Formats: sequence, structure tokens, C-alpha cells
Amino acid sequence: MDIQTNLRNVLAELPEGVRLVAVSKFHPAEAIEEAYRAGQRIFGESKEQELSEKYNVLPKDIEWHFIGHLQTNKVKYIAPYITLIEAVDSYKLLTEINKQAGKHNRTIPCLLEIHVAQEESKYGFTPDDCREMLEAGEWKELHNIRIAGVMGMATNTDDEAQIEREFRTLKALFDEWKQAFFADEPAFKEISMGMSHDYRIAIRAGSTLVRVGSKIFGERNYVK
Ligand SMILES: *Cc1c(COP(=O)(O)O)cnc(C)c1O
Repeated sequence: MDIQTNLRNVLAELPEGVRLVAVSKFHPAEAIEEAYRAGQRIFGESKEQELSEKYNVLPKDIEWHFIGHLQTNKVKYIAPYITLIEAVDSYKLLTEINKQAGKHNRTIPCLLEIHVAQEESKYGFTPDDCREMLEAGEWKELHNIRIAGVMGMATNTDDEAQIEREFRTLKALFDEWKQAFFADEPAFKEISMGMSHDYRIAIRAGSTLVRVGSKIFGERNYVK
């Protein structure tokens, strides 16, 4: 099936309040244009250079979400235009985003990536580390970033009960932190969870942003 049909099929499944990030990594600008022509505006990329190349040639009303691991030395390249940095996994990265955003007089929305899967991963705050960071409160002095919610990935498994447990863990952390630290912050509202194989489960568990790639654009060819 073609990209536009795939896109419409996914969109048709999303309830009100859930937005789609079309994950276009490893797919060419032409594929993004096709989704764009069907009305899609939010796209997700995970590598700075690939994103910057696409940003340069594609329409400027696209909202780019950075969904991968972001190295601090790459922040400066995306700071002028990025709409949402989804996978902030250290306080150090948050301070660097704040610094680079300031240079462009911007406030960049960020999500805190939380490690809720059973799988080993180098990335993401543990829930305890993130809670500690939020309690410490220094982030409140970072006026050029805005913490807009949380992001996470479930274990890559066929066990749907496990996936759902992990997504519900992320939702519970969001609720806890919303009440404890962001009760007066309407901007803290996003729970980014769900990919091609598990977005339906994520929606049941309270997702507000699903990040769907291969189901729309087809399999990625990593050998280039
Ligand atoms: C690649 C990627 C996705 C999309 O994965 P699909 O299985 O192709 O839908 C979602 N989130 C993150 C963080 C990714 O790196």
C-alpha cells in the first residue's frame, strides 16, 4: 500500500487527543512530501544530520520532533527550528538545550525520556533519577526550555500484557509528576508512547503522541 493510504489508516484509529508523529528516519524527503500532501505535519527524526538535510529542503511549516538520542554537541544545529525534543535523558542535555535555545530567543519544549522497559538500554532516566531531578528544582531556572511531558518505549516483545504494564507505568509517573511539579503548568501534557507494533496498546494506556514509522513508510533500509 502507498504512504498516503497507510497514513490515513493510522489516523483513522486515533481517538481525539492523540496526535501522530510520522517517523520518517531513513526514508527520503520524497516520502515525507507524500505524507505532507495528505496533510501530515508532524514528523519524527532520530539523527541530527539527516534531520537538518531534510529540514533544508522541505516545507517550513513541518513540525519536527527529535525522537532519538541527542548528543549535547549536536543541539546547536537543531535549536533554531526544532518543535519538540522528545528524548531528553539527562539534566546536562536539558541545560545545553536551554543554552542553545537562548541564542535564538526560543523556548524549546522537551519531553523527559523515562526508561520503563525491562530491556537493557543506555538511554532514558530511571524513574527515581528523574524524580530526584524534578525535586531538586534547578530546572525551574532554565527559562529557554519547557518540560512538556514524558516519553518512553516498551520492551520489544509479543507479550502484550507486559507492554501494557510498562506503558501504564509511564502514565502513572506522568500523573504523579503532573500533580507534584506541574499542577499549574498546562504545557506539561504529553505522554509520548507507542510505535508501529504497539501504538494501540499505548493509546489504551493514555498516550497523547504516537510515533509511527514503518507502518506508514514501510521497512527501513539501514544499509546505505
Ligand atoms: C524508529 C522509532 C520509532 C518508530 O518505529 P516504528 O516501529 O517504525 O513505528 C518510534 N520511536 C522511536 C524513539 C524510534 O526510534
